[in-house]
Amino acid sequence: MQEEIAAMIKNTAAQVRARDFLWAAGISAGVGVVVLIGAGADWRVALFAWAAFLAALAVRYRLSSGRAWAQPVQRVVDMELGAQQAELANLRIARGVAMALPEPLFILDSNGVVEHANPAAEALAGATNLEGRHFASVIRAPDVFEAAEAVIETRDTKTVDFVTTGSVELSCRAFVAPLWTDEAEPPAPARRSLIFIRDLTSERRLEQMRADFIASASHELRTPLASLLGFIETLRGHARTDPEAQEKFLSIMQSQAERMQRLVADLMSLSRIELNEHVPPKDIVDLRKIAGDVVDSFAPLFERRGAIVDLVADETMSARIAGDHDEMFQAIQNLLDNAIKYGGDPAMIKLRIGAGAAPAVAGDGEPGQRAGDTASQIAARLGLSVDDLIYVQIRDFGPGIARADLPRLTERFYRVNVERSRKSGGTGLGLAIVKHIINRHKGGFQIESVMAGGTAFNCYFAPAQARAAA
Ligand code: ADP
Repeated sequence: MQEEIAAMIKNTAAQVRARDFLWAAGISAGVGVVVLIGAGADWRVALFAWAAFLAALAVRYRLSSGRAWAQPVQRVVDMELGAQQAELANLRIARGVAMALPEPLFILDSNGVVEHANPAAEALAGATNLEGRHFASVIRAPDVFEAAEAVIETRDTKTVDFVTTGSVELSCRAFVAPLWTDEAEPPAPARRSLIFIRDLTSERRLEQMRADFIASASHELRTPLASLLGFIETLRGHARTDPEAQEKFLSIMQSQAERMQRLVADLMSLSRIELNEHVPPKDIVDLRKIAGDVVDSFAPLFERRGAIVDLVADETMSARIAGDHDEMFQAIQNLLDNAIKYGGDPAMIKLRIGAGAAPAVAGDGEPGQRAGDTASQIAARLGLSVDDLIYVQIRDFGPGIARADLPRLTERFYRVNVERSRKSGGTGLGLAIVKHIINRHKGGFQIESVMAGGTAFNCYFAPAQARAAA
C-alpha cells in the first residue's frame, strides 16, 4: 500500500514537472514573438501577441497555482487517511472481540511479555493492568509459557492442559498459537503469540461425577449379585438335601433380589427425573392432599414399625403448586421413609404443611446446623416474600445428623452409616431423588439438624398463582 502511494506521488511530480517545462518553453517563445514584433512589426500584431501571452500566463496560473499539484496529493492523502481509518476500525473490532470474549485471552510479545489481556484474563490472573508484565509472573503455568515461546519459532499451534494453583484449583486448557501481524507475516517467524484459555473445571467435575456414579452403581449391584450367586452355588451343592438351610438361603436371596430391584427402580427414577429436570411441571397439585395420601399409604408400615406420624396442615392457606403429582408423592414418601428408618426407635414424626418459613428444629426459633438455602434466600431467588412460600416439613426427633455429613446427604450413594442404610433397605439414592424433584419444581431444599434433637427436611415451593404469574 505504502509503495503504491510513493509511486503515485513520484509519477504525479514527474508529470507536473514536464508540464511546467512545456509551459515555460511556450511563455518564452511568446515573449520572443512580442519582442520581435515590437522591434518592427505591426502594433496590432504586437497587441495580439501580448494578449496571447497574458492569456497563456493566466491559464498557466490557473492550472499550476498549486491545484494541479495539490489534487493528486490530496487524493493520495485521502487514500492514506481512509486506509488508516479502516485499519483503526478493524483494530477496534479486534479489541472489542477480545474484550467481549468470556474466556481469557492473552497476547504476548516474543519475550513473553503481556501486550494485551482481556477482562476474563485479568479475572483468571486475579489482577488488573497485566500489560507489560511477564506471562510467567501472571499465570503459574510453565508449560503454557514454554508453548508460547515454541509456537513463535515452529509456527504451529499447541494445546496445553494445566491446573491453576491458588485458593481455587481450576482445570484449564490453553490454546497457544503464533500471531502474525503486518510487521512479520508467514513464512517469517511470528513476533507475537496468542493464548486462549478455557476453564474445564465443571466439565471435568461432571466427568468425574459420572464415572464415580457408574462405579458406585456397579458396586451397589455387584454386592447383592455376588451374594445371590454364592447362595445358588450352595443350594446346588451341600444344601441340596437340607430343606431348612434351603428355606433360610432362599429368604436371604429374596431380600438380596429385592434390594437389587429397589436399586434399579431408584436408578431409573433418578435418570427419568434428571432427564425432565429442565421441563417445568404443567399440572397444579395440592401438597396437603398428596401428603395425606402418602401418610395413608404408609399406615401399615407405621403400624409395623410402631412409628407415630402427626400430619399438621394449615387449612387456612392454599397448598397448591405447579407440580408433578407422582414426583411430589415420591419426594414426600422418601423423606417419610427416612424418618421412619433413621428418626429414632420408634420414630415420632411431624409432617407439616404451611406457609412462610418452616419451624426451626432447635427451640425458640434458634436454628440447628443446616445445609441448603434459608427460606429468605429461596424466596429472594423466586422473587417472592418469605410469607408467600409453601413448605413441606418432615421432622423427626431422632439422633440427628452431624454437621460434616449434612451438606453431603443429597449426593448419590452418600450414607452416614452404610451398614445401617443397607439393613433398613436403603439404596443411598433417596435424598438425591428428592433434591432433583425439588430442583425440577424450582423449589428449595433445606436440612436442619440438632444432635440428639432430631432432623427437619424442609421443601419450599412457590404457590401456584405466583408461578403462573412469573
Ligand atoms: P438411604 O437409602 O441410605 O436412606 P438416602 O439418600 O435416603 O439414602 O439418605 C442418605 C443418608 O442420610 C442415609 O443413609 C442416612 O444416613 C441419612 N439420613 C437420611 N434421613 C435421615 C434422618 N431423618 N435422620 C438421620 N439420618 C438421616
